[in-house]
Amino acid sequence: MSGFKYTKATYRFISNYKDGKWDDGELTTDENILMNESAGVIQYAQTVFEGLKAYRTPSDKIMLFRPIMHARRLNKSAEVLGMPEYPTEKFMEAVIEVVKANKDIIPRYGEGELYIRPTMFSTQPILGIKPAQEYQFRVFVSPVTNYFNTREGVNLCVSKYDRAAPNGTGHVKCGLNYAMSMQAIADAKKNGYDDCVYLDPATHTKIEEASSANIIFVDDKSNIIVPKSKTILQSITRQSIVEAARSYGHMEVVEREVFVNELHNMKECFLCGTAATITPVKTLTFDKYTLKFNGAWNEEWVVTPKLIEMMRKIKMGSISDRFGWLVIVE
Ligand SMILES: *Cc1c(COP(=O)(O)O)cnc(C)c1O
Repeated sequence: MSGFKYTKATYRFISNYKDGKWDDGELTTDENILMNESAGVIQYAQTVFEGLKAYRTPSDKIMLFRPIMHARRLNKSAEVLGMPEYPTEKFMEAVIEVVKANKDIIPRYGEGELYIRPTMFSTQPILGIKPAQEYQFRVFVSPVTNYFNTREGVNLCVSKYDRAAPNGTGHVKCGLNYAMSMQAIADAKKNGYDDCVYLDPATHTKIEEASSANIIFVDDKSNIIVPKSKTILQSITRQSIVEAARSYGHMEVVEREVFVNELHNMKECFLCGTAATITPVKTLTFDKYTLKFNGAWNEEWVVTPKLIEMMRKIKMGSISDRFGWLVIVE
């Protein structure tokens, strides 16, 4: 097992919503979903999702990192697409139940993690545009290793396509955003890049994020510079890095708009997300020029390795969990 791929697990959790309420839900071994050709999810993309991980610590505890944040974000996403709320406590129970049921496939410490994908989608046939009244909430899992196939760092290009409209769904974790990045990713890969970065859709002068991960810079004064925008996905990994860098690391973090024309002042750059973890960026290529960042390849990085180590220690519970981010499954 290597990489970020779907591997069928034995159990998944499903709960259905009908007549204004969710049923109790249950574990099932059936990975397939049979639904009507006019289901809201198929015709009008009424679907949202989350991605979090269960992992083993060196002492073989099974942990989750900030699962409540994922439950809340799922519900925020659902609200934007006119979908019902799935109660946070029930979300937690479902995630824990699925992780326990599939315990045998959680990779050992240092060998990967169990990726957890909670999803909500409308199953009801609809033709006239209106929110469906029937939905399914489903939590499935898959063991994964690194998302980007490089230890060294990634080479990125700037997408010529917008991923989101200026007041669209960029901040919502939903398939719509990914559909809008498929062609950009295909182009990037065809040209030898690992992924692409999107500019703000309104002015194309500011850096937003990569296809499935936020981006962070370190400037020439070792300040951590975090792009801020209403159209980027609010990464829980990013928020955690910001809070941890300030609280545990006593580092300077600035959250603000980041303009393309100031990037030459940035010394380090990395991507962050549940799937991407912290992945250093080696180069970022624009139409006419390429920016090169410091990293493991020239041994001139200073801040990124500190953050990687700090986040690893927090996740493994080897430094105090002062914000209550960890949930021990068993
Ligand atoms: C999920 C996601 C991220 C990363 O968010 P995390 O909460 O850190 O996992 C970043 N960008 C996009 C577009 C995403 O869908």
